[in-house]
Amino acid sequence: MSRDLVIASNNPGKLAEFSRLLGPLGYRVRTQSELGIDEAEEPHPTFIENALTKARHASRASGLPALADDSGICAPALGGAPGVHSARYAGEPRSDDANNAKLVQALSSHTDKSAYYYCVLVFVRHAEDPQPVIAEGRWQGELIAKPRGEGGFGYDPHFLLPALGKTAAELSAEQKNELSHRGQALRALLAKLS
Ligand code: IMP
Repeated sequence: MSRDLVIASNNPGKLAEFSRLLGPLGYRVRTQSELGIDEAEEPHPTFIENALTKARHASRASGLPALADDSGICAPALGGAPGVHSARYAGEPRSDDANNAKLVQALSSHTDKSAYYYCVLVFVRHAEDPQPVIAEGRWQGELIAKPRGEGGFGYDPHFLLPALGKTAAELSAEQKNELSHRGQALRALLAKLS
């Protein structure tokens, strides 16, 4: 028998990915918009606090177990920025090009161009769950000034993987899933849940 689970996201790509991985564990994945639930605020300075807030909100509103994710890119030379502000680093309206230009500019005066993508996933059995299941993934790379590649989204054309000599935007979707922060976090969550 399948149990319903709500994901605190309305992104169809994430729904497909989560459904594929959680289906075999007996979960039927629903999006929060499908259940008429509004999006939670993400006011916190850390990924984990935002993901936990989103998961509790979706679970409270639906009465179902909930899964939330939060992710972004961090540059150590910038004290971890853009971090939780990755989606709107250059402000509104949200623009990948403007975000990338701002990050390239911010790093231009630093020799340390390292950056990493980070993803955290939080699963709560119910809104007040005292012991959420938490899984993380981290993908190390380097920020380059000139974009390369057509795939991926966000900061991918500027995110170079030195060992491969390719940016994240030059990888196939399968290769990116195998390596990425989100892929790592999903596999870690699955191992914990199963
Ligand atoms: P969210 O957690 O899906 O809202 O992602 C937050 C933001 O981080 C995105 O809007 C992107 O700017 C950035 N980001 C997260 N993951 C990736 C990725 O895999 N590639 C490129 N940018 C990403």
